[in-house]
Amino acid sequence: MLNILFPKRCCGCEKALASHERLLCVSCRHQIPLLCHDHLSELLIKKKFYGRLQLQHAISLMRFQKQGLTQKLLHHMKYYGVKELSAFFGNWLGNEMDALNNTWNVDMVIPVPLDRKRLKKRGYNQVAGFGKRMAAALDAEYRDNILLKTANIRSQVRKNRFLRFESGAVFTVNNVDELNDKHVLLVDDIITTGATIEKCAAELFKGKHVKLSVASIAITG
Ligand SMILES: [Zn+2]
Repeated sequence: MLNILFPKRCCGCEKALASHERLLCVSCRHQIPLLCHDHLSELLIKKKFYGRLQLQHAISLMRFQKQGLTQKLLHHMKYYGVKELSAFFGNWLGNEMDALNNTWNVDMVIPVPLDRKRLKKRGYNQVAGFGKRMAAALDAEYRDNILLKTANIRSQVRKNRFLRFESGAVFTVNNVDELNDKHVLLVDDIITTGATIEKCAAELFKGKHVKLSVASIAITG
């Protein structure tokens, strides 16, 4: 049954999986450069956002390595339709946080959204599985209908002169009152410059007394 639902080969090294293995073989699992122990990722993320964003907590499962196993896994998740990997990483980080006796008290988990066009094309947001499992682990609500991505700026430039001076994605919030007094955990697959998180955060802070934490599958640096 499992073999029908999940690939029989390891998403990392492509070797055949043993019957007790799921998505990743034991050897690849051990090669993943985990960052979630000893607050290592928290320091890294907070350093990235220093002076830009006030964060309660921050955590990342692994360090992103270009041309390496982590890049391959994120590609599988994003482009090759192996969306189970996203949930797999969410369970993994959720368990690690459980083991760390987390006391984050998050109310809501909100994913960095895809715009409708991309969502339609890909069929899923690659971070959804991760976010849902994190929400379950933290006993929080998963909400993907509050923060929305309206478009990429390139298509907006022609419509509105003001937007010409910005770059990248445009985000917006729906039902902003639902954010009031909430501790929100914003989740993404990978944090690189942090520009996307910063833009999303600016929208989320439109709610009153919002507290923000961040979690990602991977982080560069
Ligand atoms: Zn492997």
